[in-house]
Amino acid sequence: MAHIVLESRIKCEFLEEKESEILQKYLGLLGSQSKSVRREEDLIWRIHSGMARSVSYVSAAKLVSMARGNRVAVIDVRDEERSYQAHIAGSHHFASGSFAARLPELVQATSGKDTLVFHCALSQVRGPSCARMFSDYLSESKEDSGIKNIMVLERGFNGWEISGQPVCHCKDAPCKGTCS
Ligand SMILES: [Zn+2]
Repeated sequence: MAHIVLESRIKCEFLEEKESEILQKYLGLLGSQSKSVRREEDLIWRIHSGMARSVSYVSAAKLVSMARGNRVAVIDVRDEERSYQAHIAGSHHFASGSFAARLPELVQATSGKDTLVFHCALSQVRGPSCARMFSDYLSESKEDSGIKNIMVLERGFNGWEISGQPVCHCKDAPCKGTCS
């Protein structure tokens, strides 16, 4: 019995060591990239999301065909850049900086939808982090939100715009989705 306990403790320590190695590696990468959007806590989230249940990805073209079903909500988690760049018509804005505090509001805003698609500028850090946080929030919540799929838009808003998909420039919050 004692050796089993010892063995599992060694395993835990090994995993913790591995995790901190991975973190150091990512933080090294962080130094060479834009620090304004790639915050340390986002990175930690990303590492954990890679280790736990994954959130699926969807391409811009697939999202266009899915969105016709009307049960899909697009959640833009970019921060201040949404105000001076365009956005996907009909998308909700829940900035990553205040995302955690607004989780209950997001559930209310997307009631009746079964699929939520998250994105930021590139969907590399903030988008997946917020999708993961939302997924965890739903798992812990006792109420059934009716949300079946949590996805991330591949290549984010920038990829969406570059691939020629329609964008909206309105200042409405939330975007009514009637403009293009
Ligand atoms: Zn709009």
